[in-house]
Amino acid sequence: MAKKPTTPTEHASSEPMLRRCIGSHRFGIEPHDAPVGDFPRRPSQKDGLGRMCQVHWNQYTAGLARDAKARNAAPVEEPEPTPIAASRRPRAAREVTITPEGSATIE
Ligand SMILES: [Zn+2]
Repeated sequence: MAKKPTTPTEHASSEPMLRRCIGSHRFGIEPHDAPVGDFPRRPSQKDGLGRMCQVHWNQYTAGLARDAKARNAAPVEEPEPTPIAASRRPRAAREVTITPEGSATIE
């Protein structure tokens, strides 16, 4: 029985077609090669496929949406929590209910 040595690189020619996913530096997506089947169809593109794989495209658009949302909601400074405890003398005998607005009611 003569064994024929096979090289592990022999099947390299049958690999699926790869396409470059450009990734997005802005959202920390590394460029990489992915099977053509992983790319969404983009009829407007010259070759009819997106420039990012589906997974990263989703991450990219989600990141854009997040950014747009953050821009629309103007950065409002968080109101400082009122230091109730500091301005109030301790009254152990009464029950103090503190509402989320920061005001306190004594029952
Ligand atoms: Zn990708």
